[in-house]
Amino acid sequence: MTSYLALTSEQVKKAVAAVKKSKPVYAELLDFYGGVFEAQEDCKGRIDLEPLQLSEDLQTAKAREKLPLIEIEAFIYDENESANLFLTLCHLATEANPKLSAAAGVILNAIETTIKPDALFSGLLNGNEAIFENIANELGIEKPVLGFFTYNSLKPSLCACADQLAVYLDQNEPWLQAYCPICGNAPILSILEDEGQRKLVCSFCWHLWSAKRVHCPYCDGSQNKDLHYFYSEEEKDTRVDLCDNCKKYIKTLDTRKVARLIYPPLEQISTMHLDIKAQEMGFEPGVKLFMQV
Ligand SMILES: [Zn+2]
Ligand SMILES: [Zn+2]
Repeated sequence: MTSYLALTSEQVKKAVAAVKKSKPVYAELLDFYGGVFEAQEDCKGRIDLEPLQLSEDLQTAKAREKLPLIEIEAFIYDENESANLFLTLCHLATEANPKLSAAAGVILNAIETTIKPDALFSGLLNGNEAIFENIANELGIEKPVLGFFTYNSLKPSLCACADQLAVYLDQNEPWLQAYCPICGNAPILSILEDEGQRKLVCSFCWHLWSAKRVHCPYCDGSQNKDLHYFYSEEEKDTRVDLCDNCKKYIKTLDTRKVARLIYPPLEQISTMHLDIKAQEMGFEPGVKLFMQV
């Protein structure tokens, strides 16, 4: 189910190199993100989590009500690995663009005084935006930057939780909702597979689920006449699906037109020019991209 995500860090490195070659304009950004992705995949192999369990009753009730399996605050994470990854990502960022490297330097200096990574991790999972606001103000950095390091340090654990929980999903009953069956978040990317089957990728836990082929994932009211898309001639593997009903868009990767290894977070980052174009056309992203800097 999450086969696209099950790449080793070595495979991720190859995928990043392939994209850098075909899109040199992204080389600098991918120098940084490539390091982030590799560190996250390496981390996945080391994390140690208690199994998340759902009772049969709860599982049945969730399926009946079309509710996601867990709330965000119920995700668990490996404290040591997440804290180590937080440091690794900050160190990687000191080599990135000036804005990010300056913020990373400030964060590294404040670790264990103003910043306790564990407090940020639980703050993110519990929706405690105030902690991010306060620390960002105190340190003179931007809140999304702090959110970026926090979310990306938790991400390997979040993905591991989602993989574990996926066994509770009913494989015979397609999940046709527009939100993730594991955590309830909106999709960040859409993927067309070999047979033309469409999958959506969760913006939070990166779980993939099957979706209706012609449908806006962000609103229920869309009809065929509301849906259209654009793509560029040079880059036919990714199109942008637009919905006139809710004025939102989602990028769709057509795997039938891609020869490289597919790693959804990389596809998301290396197509940001399409986000800019869609937004210039008056459409909004379907999810708030708080983790991108
Ligand atoms: Zn999810
Ligand atoms: Zn829509």
